[in-house]
Amino acid sequence: MDILIVDDSESITLLFNTFLKDEGFEDIHIAKTASQAFQLLGMEDEGAAKQPIDLILMDIQLPNINGIEACRQIKSNTSTQDIPIIVVTATSKVKKLEQAFNAGAIDYIVKPAEKIELLTRVKSALKLKQEMDQRKAREKELLELTVQLQEANQKLHRLSFIDSLTQIANRRYFDHLLAEEWRRSLRIKKPISLIMIDIDYFKKFNDTYGHQRGDYCLSMVAAAFKKSLKRAGDCVARYGGEEFAVILPNTDLDGAVNVADKIEHNSSTVSDQVTVSMGISCATPPFKSGLERLISSADEAMYKAKQEGRDQYKLFNLENK
Ligand code: GH3
Ligand code: MG
Ligand code: MG
Repeated sequence: MDILIVDDSESITLLFNTFLKDEGFEDIHIAKTASQAFQLLGMEDEGAAKQPIDLILMDIQLPNINGIEACRQIKSNTSTQDIPIIVVTATSKVKKLEQAFNAGAIDYIVKPAEKIELLTRVKSALKLKQEMDQRKAREKELLELTVQLQEANQKLHRLSFIDSLTQIANRRYFDHLLAEEWRRSLRIKKPISLIMIDIDYFKKFNDTYGHQRGDYCLSMVAAAFKKSLKRAGDCVARYGGEEFAVILPNTDLDGAVNVADKIEHNSSTVSDQVTVSMGISCATPPFKSGLERLISSADEAMYKAKQEGRDQYKLFNLENK
C-alpha cells in the first residue's frame, strides 16, 4: 500500500513515517508542499508519470497552497479523485474540519497524533479504499459482460430471422414483416403486393444432381432473387423448402409484375435447368379481406401458373374483392 504524507514539518513526517513503517507499511512517500504532491500524483499534465497512491495524509497548514485547497484539487482531478484523504490538523475547530470535509477529506487526525490513532484511521481508510476499488472493478466487469450479452442477443436476434442455407430472411421474419407492412399499407393507404415463388420440378433437380447441388442451387436462386429487388423496403424470404416469397410494400400490380420479370430473368441465369412459377397478388386499402387472403390468392395464382405449364407468373388483383 502506497501512502503519501504531505507535510512541511520534518518532525511530523519523521514521526508518521516511523509509525507506519513499524506497522509494516513500506511504501511511504513524502511531499513538503501541495505542489510537490501534485507533481508526484502526476496531476500537472496528462502525460506525466503517476505514482499510484492508496492514501494521503494531508496537513491542513501548508505553505502557498494550503491543505484544504490541495484536497479540493486532488478531488476534482479524475485520475486522483478516488484517493482517500485524511487531513492532519493542529486544531479540531469545527469550522476547519467542515472545510476539510467539504473539500473531500474522509477523516482527520489531530496533531500530535497517538500511534494507535494514526494506525487505526489509516487502516480503516485503506480498507474502505480497497472495498471501493473492488466494487468498481466488479461494476466494470459487469458493464463489460452486459455489453457482451447485448451484442450476443442482437446477433441471436438477427440469426433467428435468417435462413441458414440461403442467408435471406426466414419464414419467421416473413410472417412478422408481412403483418407489419399490411398494417402500414392500411395506414398510409398505399397498395401492397406479394409474390409467391416455387421452383419448378425441383424434386427432379435433386434426383438428377443430388441434394447438395440442390442446396447450392437454392442459395444461388435466393441470391438471384435478392438481386432482383431494388427498393430498400422490398424483402425476399424463404417461405419453406423450394418456395420463396417477396413482400413489396407500396407497390401496385404493375410494379409487382416488373419485379417478377426481373426475378424470372435472374433465376434463368442461375442455371438452364431452373425455372420458377410465380403467383402475384396485390391489395389496395381499404382492404375488403384480411391478410390471409393476400397470401392465399398469391398461392392460388402460383398454382395456376404451374397448371398452365410452369415457368411463368399469374396475377390476382384483390381490388374490390
Ligand atoms: P413443381 O414444379 O410442381 O413445384 O415440382 P417440384 O418437384 O418442385 O415440387 P415438389 O413440391 O413435389 O417438390 C419440392 C422439392 O423440393 C422436394 C424436395 O426434395 C425439394 N426441397 C425442398 N427443400 C429442399 C432443400 O432444403 N434442399 C434441397 N436440396 N431440396 C429441397
Ligand atoms: Mg413446392
Ligand atoms: Mg416446386
